[in-house]
Amino acid sequence: MPEPRSYSTEAIVIRKTKLGEADTILTFFTLDRGKIQGFARSLRKPRSKLAGHLELLTHSQVSFVRGKNLDTITGSQTINSFLPLKNDLFLTSCGLYVAELINQFTAEHQENLPLFKLTLDTLHRLADEDNHELVLRAFELHLLESTGYRPQLRQCVACHRSLEPITNYFSPVAGGLLCPACGPTQHFARPVTVNAQKVMRLLQGGDFAPVARLKLGAELAAEIEDTLGEYIKYLLEREVKSAAWLETLKEQKSSFRP
Ligand SMILES: [Zn+2]
Repeated sequence: MPEPRSYSTEAIVIRKTKLGEADTILTFFTLDRGKIQGFARSLRKPRSKLAGHLELLTHSQVSFVRGKNLDTITGSQTINSFLPLKNDLFLTSCGLYVAELINQFTAEHQENLPLFKLTLDTLHRLADEDNHELVLRAFELHLLESTGYRPQLRQCVACHRSLEPITNYFSPVAGGLLCPACGPTQHFARPVTVNAQKVMRLLQGGDFAPVARLKLGAELAAEIEDTLGEYIKYLLEREVKSAAWLETLKEQKSSFRP
């Protein structure tokens, strides 16, 4: 049976690319089709009826009609526009960071329902909670998990011994923690304090509610951010071969119009 000519799905706008005078290509992360692209004719004309429903980070029900190369967007109805994220520059950049990581870590047409739910939960938490740093770190750890890069935080990735509650080492290349015997022998392995290990394990655990109440000092927050950030950067450079992804993020930021 041929596939129907049109379809509709729940989608989050994760990227917009200008095309010609007034058209736009949008990248969506969807409930049941993974990452997909759609063509929006005249989206940048002032009287576009669709534009308000297709802003970056907006969660919408979007309709498409199949095209030869690219499917065309025929309708869109906002489910949640995440206004708090669009009215605050810092929250905007947090939301765009989430969108950019989803874009970089996913391939087109690969359904990933847990990742769709994680993305929505994360946008809700950014809008509703005060602990934005922890929301982002939890997002990173669960993103890594659902894309197959879960970092090993319980035992040494080299000798497989259980880790002692002492300073251990994190290796982006090995994909997890190393004990003090194995750590110093690995290139680019960085020491990680006991508290940073504890928080990362808690965040990896699942439920966000108990974690949301944690108050991290600036130094500890920075240590966790750097450790996970180095791992993510390493994976993206190796797997996606996109060393310029931070540049992309900047581009998206400057093209964002709340
Ligand atoms: Zn070891």
